[in-house]
This record gives sequence, C-alpha cells and structure tokens, in this order.
Amino acid sequence: MKVGFIGLGQMGGPMCRNLLAAGHDLIVHDSRATAAGPLLEAGASWAATPFLAAAGRKVVITSLPAPRHVELVLLGADGLLDGLEPGSIWVDMSTSVPEVADRVRALAEPRGVGVVDAPVSGMTSGARAGTLQIFVGGTELDYHRVRPVLEAMGDPERIQYVGPHGAGYTVKLMLNLLWFAHLCATAEVLSIGVAAGVDLSRLRDSLLASPAASHFIEADVLSVLRDGDYDEGFALALACKDLGLAIDLARATGVPAEVSALVEQIYRRARAQFGDAGGEMLPIRLLEDLTGRPLRLTAAGAIAERADTGTALTASPALTLVQE
Ligand code: NAD
Repeated sequence: MKVGFIGLGQMGGPMCRNLLAAGHDLIVHDSRATAAGPLLEAGASWAATPFLAAAGRKVVITSLPAPRHVELVLLGADGLLDGLEPGSIWVDMSTSVPEVADRVRALAEPRGVGVVDAPVSGMTSGARAGTLQIFVGGTELDYHRVRPVLEAMGDPERIQYVGPHGAGYTVKLMLNLLWFAHLCATAEVLSIGVAAGVDLSRLRDSLLASPAASHFIEADVLSVLRDGDYDEGFALALACKDLGLAIDLARATGVPAEVSALVEQIYRRARAQFGDAGGEMLPIRLLEDLTGRPLRLTAAGAIAERADTGTALTASPALTLVQE
C-alpha cells in the first residue's frame, strides 16, 4: 500500500523499517531531515513537508512527541491535512489527546478523509521487533481498512479495536499511568524490603508468588535489577508529558486522582534531577541514590534469571543485593 509516515524518532524509525520490510511503498518526513537517512537507503522516499508526504497516499501515519507537534504537523503551514486526498486515512500513533484529533476530524471528514487514533505500547524493542500492542479508536470500518498496515508494525493478536474516536488515546494514557504507578510502588517496596535486610531476589521471588505479583515485577523491572538499564529509549520528558495528559483527563472527567498526582510529582522530580533525555525508569534511581543501595541482582542472579527462561544450564538460588 502507498503509505506516508511523519516522525522518525525512537519509535517511528523502526516502525518505518518494518513497513518497508512488509513491502509497503513508503514516503517519510521529519523536521530533522537526518533522521530519514537510513530509511532512504532502505528504499523509502523523502517528503520535504508534511503536505508532500500526503500526495497519492492511502494511509499517512504520525508518530510525534506531544499534542502540540501533532497539531502543528496537521494544521500548520504546509500541513498534512491539506495534502490528504478523499478516501485516505490519517492514523495518529502518537500518545496524544482526542481534542487535537477532533479539531482535525471536523475539517477532515467533510473532505472524505478518515481519522484513526492508534497509539502503541511495547517500547522501542517492540517497535524494532514489529510486536507493538496497538489500541485503535475510530470507526470499525476505518479500523479494518488500516489493519493491514498496522500488522506490519504490531503483534496481530494485540492490535485491538477499543472504541470510537479518542478511545485509543485514552486506553494508552491509562496504561502508561498504571505502569508508572507500578514502577514507583515497586521501587519503594523493593528499597524498603532490602533496607530491612531481606535479600533482593528472595523478596522479588516472594512477591511474584503472591497476590501482589505484577508483570512489572516479573519482567519490566529486570532491566534495572539485572543490567542497570533505565530505558533511555523512552525519555523522561515524554513520560512527564503522558502523566500530565492523564491527570488532565482525570480533571476533565472529575475523577479524583490522588495517587496519580503523586506519581506525576515523582516523575517530575526525576526529570529535574536527570534531565529530559533520561530514561523512564530513573525514578527507581531516585530511591537508590537516597538509600545508597542500588537494586541489583548479582551475576549469579542473572544466571538464575536466564535459567527461568530456559536459556541457562544451571540455576543458582544465590541472588543477592550488590552493595556499591
Ligand atoms: P522521539 O522524540 O524519539 O521522536 C519524535 C520524532 O518526531 C522526532 O524524530 C522529531 O524530530 C519528530 N518531530 C517533532 N516535531 C516534528 C514536526 N513538527 N514535524 C516533523 N517531525 C517532528 O519520540 P518517540 O520516543 O519516537 O515517541 C513518539 C511517540 O510515541 C510519542 O507520542 C511517545 O509518547 C509515544 N511512545 C513512545 C514509546 C517509547 O518507548 N519511546 C513507547 C510508546 C509510545
């Protein structure tokens, strides 16, 4: 299919690679022209403006940092909306809000242009692997029309139609809010338990076997515990953007969000401490720095973890906290 793509960052770059690998005819644009280099070598063509990225395209995708970037690309000078042809569909895969898409839709629908929100989950590793989870909001007809394109970037089992326009954005914001809350709560629980003298791996194993288990404790936290990797693939500036949008939604719906507000403040503290580009898991580091106890499994622990997934021959129960 003839596809356009705007926003070639941490997510958009690898998503475009997968679109090319699936055989789509791809034209790309980004305000940083250098971001397109590897994609042009891989067979994509270049559009100098968002407007030009729309010419002759059935589907044009955006993957942009925040709502204001989406608005600028769609409605600004040389904007995408004016280039979209009747019968085409704009698919926004940014984590954004319905308000911007609604303003675009009010102008797009009378021109016969469809609008779909389809934000994603699965980190940069999922973008590279083509296994993203995708939450689609819009008409069911448009969902079925864009699904073949989405399948090049996401896990077909986890490309979900979640409701009318805006529902995809809402599901994505709630997912991130809960994940960030898991992170803050888990960081506190592990830090307190370890400071009280319990071995880190035994604490984690016990939590995993308990009613308090979570996918975060089982899988996501391991990048910190095992590798000291705080995931720079997702910047603290974007995490704070998502939390701000989620709190705005709570305010707009009148639902009290006391825990969420605290999680947002913790993330803002991490951003002030470590900078915009710091990784999304750095709120854990805030506590590690305060307690002087990095939460790390030893090399023996790493062997045991790999054994859990069947990739090591020996498993050692001796997972201990590394005191640095
Ligand atoms: P990024 O900052 O790495 O990439 C954004 C790209 O948009 C950049 O290449 C930037 O140059 C480009 N851009 C910005 N303004 C532009 C404009 N006016 N015109 C053209 N291009 C413009 O961000 P990312 O990490 O790729 O995230 C993209 C979206 O996906 C965000 O909404 C983010 O919240 C969401 N998301 C990110 C992750 C992740 O792990 N990184 C995971 C899920 C969802």
